[in-house]
Amino acid sequence: MTFAELSGYLDRLESTSSRNELVKTLAELYARSSADEIQPLTYLIQGRLVPFFEPIEIGLGEKLVIAAIAQAFATPPDEVAKLFGRLGDLGQVAATLSAHGSNSRLPVAEVHARLMEIAVASGAGSVEKKRSLFAALLKQVDPVSAKHLVRIALGRLRLGIGDPTVLDALSFAKKGDKSLRPVLEGAYNRVSDLGLIAKTFWSGGESAVNALKVTVGRPIRSQLAERLPNPEAVIKRLGLVAVQPKYDGIRVQIHKNGSEVRVFSRNLEDYTLMFSELTAAAQALKDETLILDGEAIAYSKELEEYLPFQLTASRRRQHGIEQAARELPLVAFIFDILYRNGRDLTELPYEERLAMVDAVIAGSTVLLPAPIIKTDSVEVLTKTLLDNISQGLEGVVVKRPDSKYQAGARNFNWVKLKRHTSGELNDTVDLVLLGYYFGKGKRAEFGVGALLAGVYDAEHDRFATITKLGTGLSDAEWRQIHERADRLQVDHRPARVESILTPDVWLEPEVVVEVMADEITPSPRHTAGKAGDEPGFALRFPRVVSFRGADKRPEDATTVKEIASLFRQQRERKTPS
Ligand code: ATP
Repeated sequence: MTFAELSGYLDRLESTSSRNELVKTLAELYARSSADEIQPLTYLIQGRLVPFFEPIEIGLGEKLVIAAIAQAFATPPDEVAKLFGRLGDLGQVAATLSAHGSNSRLPVAEVHARLMEIAVASGAGSVEKKRSLFAALLKQVDPVSAKHLVRIALGRLRLGIGDPTVLDALSFAKKGDKSLRPVLEGAYNRVSDLGLIAKTFWSGGESAVNALKVTVGRPIRSQLAERLPNPEAVIKRLGLVAVQPKYDGIRVQIHKNGSEVRVFSRNLEDYTLMFSELTAAAQALKDETLILDGEAIAYSKELEEYLPFQLTASRRRQHGIEQAARELPLVAFIFDILYRNGRDLTELPYEERLAMVDAVIAGSTVLLPAPIIKTDSVEVLTKTLLDNISQGLEGVVVKRPDSKYQAGARNFNWVKLKRHTSGELNDTVDLVLLGYYFGKGKRAEFGVGALLAGVYDAEHDRFATITKLGTGLSDAEWRQIHERADRLQVDHRPARVESILTPDVWLEPEVVVEVMADEITPSPRHTAGKAGDEPGFALRFPRVVSFRGADKRPEDATTVKEIASLFRQQRERKTPS
């Protein structure tokens, strides 16, 4: 396939407002691609060159791209900049200037390889090199291709193609329906690499996909926790449980392969360099290969205290890493082991895995075992929850002692109990920003009035609205929202967003915020949980508690299913039987 053909598809994908259409178009594109090109193509449609967990970004800055466009189309840079001012999109600028563009039929795989060359260029003279290589590429393609190449280079190709959409499209392309999605998703949960799955599927079919194994160096999708309202409900549902403190830090998955260690976040980012003390501590462990799962948290030895989430989060930084590591050292509480010396441990009962954790990290002062107690008593569980809260922890996570590790699953093998027990809604929810309304009065200064926010409908891979948000943010945070939103603006409702309301500006779903509310109410205005004539759900008195920053992808937001279950729990509390 040529890059020009791919670009035609990118145009079609960009203009659709329907998720079904997105899947169909993508399936058509897949059906036309060969096993050799399907891997690079899969990364490119998500605006990337490699899977999410590989830290290679093409990320050329605007200035460099302007210079490259100027060079490619023999136009003075200030004219390019002027055109950019008028059109607001450097992709359009490149398309306009290359109006008599070349007809060269560069294959997708070649364009991908050349973009890789640009991405990895480093050291002296690399800026020049990146500019020239990119200019040469722009010169060789047609206008539509130039537009998309520029967006990819800037990291701004936003077609709203989430991972589940890709999995559905792969299934459709081969089978004509979604029936292979579970097989593909199972593999995705084990290897987190859509390109690898696509290539394996094309060359070896379903059985080859099934054979993709947990591997050191590729993150496994994290097991997640369900909610229950109180200790009674937990013991009633789970019986005997292992209870652990819930640390309010950042989830980390540590992979050790000999002396090579990588640390991944829950949304597959690479924290190896940023969380260097964890990397060093893992290097010092005796076992040759390991995958450990845990929570990193800033801990003050002087105060003997865990520090608040914001301080741990401040360690996610590109600059001043060493100083930050000295000032706010991290420890990681390890609560699971998924792989050891060539053996996949995810099928073992939790108790056995935990015993292994103790042995593997014994002696480390940075990787610490998460303590557990086992109980089937409501009193003991209640006391443990309160003890943990009084020590400044978030609450507890209870786990079934006999459960296996289910990659990517949120189920009752793990249940979290947190400190907010007074309000009607006893936990915060994570919402995705889907749009905003222009503000009036003081808010107008920041360019944003109220925000339209939604939850994730995992079953249909869509985002459904649940509330407008207007309180809880400082002036600085409103400004920050506006800045981030500016980059996410799209001119029509994104294909995966379902909404009855129409905000002034639609946003590509990306920013996740943590929200507290008084209760969940039925509402005909929102689409979360809406089925036929049945109303959806809305939040009463919502307020933003924090930005989730980089640790959550939109698909990690609270789901419609969770909201429905919280609504049921809330109703049961109001009408005790
Ligand atoms: P929250 O926002 O409540 O932390 P979440 O949506 O980030 O929840 P959940 O799966 O709902 O994630 O809750 C589990 C999270 O709690 C894990 O992802 C992990 O980051 C954190 N955590 C802290 N301590 C533990 C523990 N002992 N066992 C498992 N997870 C823990």
